[in-house]
Amino acid sequence: MTANLTNPIFQNEEKAIAHFEAIRWPDGPVCPHCGVAGEATSVQGKSHRLGMWQCNACREPFTVKVGTVMESSHIPMHKWALAFHLVAASKKGVSAYQLHRMLGITYKSAWFMEHRIREAMRRVDAEPLGGKGKSVEIDETFIGTEAGKVKKRGGGQHKRKVVSLVEHCGDADLQRYLDEFDFRYSNRVAAGVDDVLRTMRAIKGAEGKRLTYKQPRSAQPA
Ligand SMILES: [Zn+2]
Repeated sequence: MTANLTNPIFQNEEKAIAHFEAIRWPDGPVCPHCGVAGEATSVQGKSHRLGMWQCNACREPFTVKVGTVMESSHIPMHKWALAFHLVAASKKGVSAYQLHRMLGITYKSAWFMEHRIREAMRRVDAEPLGGKGKSVEIDETFIGTEAGKVKKRGGGQHKRKVVSLVEHCGDADLQRYLDEFDFRYSNRVAAGVDDVLRTMRAIKGAEGKRLTYKQPRSAQPA
């Protein structure tokens, strides 16, 4: 993993927020409530949270987290920045336990983050890997998507990981693991995607995937 962990976005909350804003809104803030672009005013002052905007069209306040997988989280954005980097830049993923230790947060928070980052990495047009009823080769391992059955050939760590997930976790966890693997493979170095770009794509994917009841009205195709 090539990681510049001294980047201020991993320590400084203001810089972290600016980083997420630049990725989500390259042309300036877009109100996640009414969808109007370029009409928000930064809300400054001691009584306001960092990164707060107010929409001049609908008067609703928002931050860069609203309408993303991070919306309901109280974890600081510089920790989200580091978590996205660690998950997207590592070759085989990072466990919730590693995030818990590396970010100095509870295991429960780390588990929450890991699942949301995987959700961010999920392709919106996601079909089973290789298409319905097809097989796909992953690192010498064959996985059939027919009837949820996993077929494997060859060896390697992925085979053990997949088989172990099927045996112990069930379909939902297997799908999340495959989504993360699929994302990492589609955005691999050999395809010209470095760690920084891959992390940016994962953060970009955080938009429009809020897991709770309220969907952003401005949801646009990524
Ligand atoms: Zn608005």
